Amino acid sequence: MYDVVIVGGALSGASVAILLLTEQPQLRILIVEKTQAFSRRVGEATVEVSTYFLRHQLGLTSHLNHSHLVKNGLRFWFANEKTKTLADCSEIGARYLSRLPAYLVDRAVLDEEVLRRALTLGAELWRPAAVRNITLEPGGIQRVTIKRGDLELLVETRWIVDASGVAAVLARQENWLKPNLEHPTTAVWSRWSGVKDFDSPDLLRKYPEWSRECYGIRSTATNHLMGDGWWAWWIPLKSGDVSIGVVFDERRLDWPKGGSLGDRLKSFLLQHPIGNELLAEAQWQEGDVHWRKHLPYYSTTFVGDGFALVGDAAAFLDPFYSPGMDWISYTASSAAHLILAQHHGEPTSPLIKRVNDDFTRSYSRWFDAIYRNKYDYMGEFDLLGLAFTMDVGLYYLGVASQPFLRGPAALREPYFATGPSTPFYHWMRTYNRRFARMAQVRRARGQLGRRNNRHRRMVKGFAFETSTIVTVLRAAGGWARLELLEGWRSWFGRTKSP
Ligand SMILES: Cc1cc2nc3c(=O)[nH]c(=O)nc-3n(C[C@H](O)[C@H](O)[C@H](O)COP(=O)(O)OP(=O)(O)OC[C@H]3O[C@@H](n4cnc5c(N)ncnc54)[C@H](O)[C@@H]3O)c2cc1C
Repeated sequence: MYDVVIVGGALSGASVAILLLTEQPQLRILIVEKTQAFSRRVGEATVEVSTYFLRHQLGLTSHLNHSHLVKNGLRFWFANEKTKTLADCSEIGARYLSRLPAYLVDRAVLDEEVLRRALTLGAELWRPAAVRNITLEPGGIQRVTIKRGDLELLVETRWIVDASGVAAVLARQENWLKPNLEHPTTAVWSRWSGVKDFDSPDLLRKYPEWSRECYGIRSTATNHLMGDGWWAWWIPLKSGDVSIGVVFDERRLDWPKGGSLGDRLKSFLLQHPIGNELLAEAQWQEGDVHWRKHLPYYSTTFVGDGFALVGDAAAFLDPFYSPGMDWISYTASSAAHLILAQHHGEPTSPLIKRVNDDFTRSYSRWFDAIYRNKYDYMGEFDLLGLAFTMDVGLYYLGVASQPFLRGPAALREPYFATGPSTPFYHWMRTYNRRFARMAQVRRARGQLGRRNNRHRRMVKGFAFETSTIVTVLRAAGGWARLELLEGWRSWFGRTKSP
């Protein structure tokens, strides 16, 4: 009999074990992990909340500094028919280095380290072993069937934590899993070798003016190649390999057919001036080319008296802005808090209701405020630039600042779950909707991408300071100006989007 059985020993599962054992070392925790060793996986860029979680809650600062790369913010590259070289691309990014820490991580390395720490604290690991079936008994003993070698074993536990990622064992079994059909996106990715560096000396010599525009480091940002209905991430790893992948809206882009997936990924990326310049000699890694269709989904239930869903097993929305490990921080923290509350004899019903309400509201508001139809304007330098400034500025002021100012309790308040976030949700949803409409009108008028060459939005960097409020307000002013210049075309009636 265990206190907690965790399905999946990767980041979200091992994190819950660490949070629990740090508070209650005597808990009997079993982690069941299907794979013998973790392979590389997507989820390679942290942001401010997830970095706080990894450093302050899991104690990984030294590991992150030694085994991964320090990230230098986000950088976006836009193209149109006039952009012939990398230096012609319009650019959004920081002029200097970032002010808060974040990392570019090799998940095979990171997840093994987090799991190792959970075992050091006293968790037991069955690996390789796979959870086959779970019988839930609210408030009672949960029964878990586990395949381990040739054996099928029945294990009893007070709590089950589902951290099985997209396998979403419990949500599928209980029919809680719903696809988010309003956001049909697909991702294709690989790890690459032989990728030219953004800061390589020959590029600095070839484009001296371009190199002088940035005083920081371009190559260790999460770089993004942007297009109409798609974007690509570009994440260097400590080993020298680079993770590069494309995410596209299935309504906006027909993924090329014919040839191997790696070939198609490369020829697609070569069409962008950045890809053309940096990927000519690069090779995707055989056996490490992946395709995932219909990315977003959510569970209608997140926790109950005896179970909790964490990380990707609870929901997935969109990888743009790298929120996946923030979601892990929120779900893992809430799951551990609930289990510890029950362990201390506190009433769990109000907590269970609050967690289910908060995460349900969070997912739906997060979608509306940030991602709904965003791929309509992903490829528009000016629209995405304004959205990026307000999205990230408001994230800094209202979200990322919270654990730093108030401590880890803020990690139990997912995006847009709290009362004070409501006006900001409405504001963000409005400008996101307006930018999508403006892009739809531009598309209908054949005017997409006109500012995608030779413009730069070099931001000073975000902080929990008045300067960021000013930056956000300036972007809001830019939005108002755009409304007067062209937004009026879609104020009344609908312009049909092709
Ligand atoms: C294209 C793309 C790009 C992304 N980029 C980012 C990013 O830059 N930053 C970011 O923060 N997030 C990103 N994400 C999200 C991120 O990958 C996930 O949020 C994160 O990896 C989820 O971690 P997890 O531990 O919940 O699940 P996983 O990492 O999927 O781990 C689940 C574990 O459960 C095990 N398992 C599965 N079934 C069973 C079973 N039946 N029994 C036992 N074990 C089982 C698996 O073997 C696995 O080890 C991205 C996602 C996508 C799709």
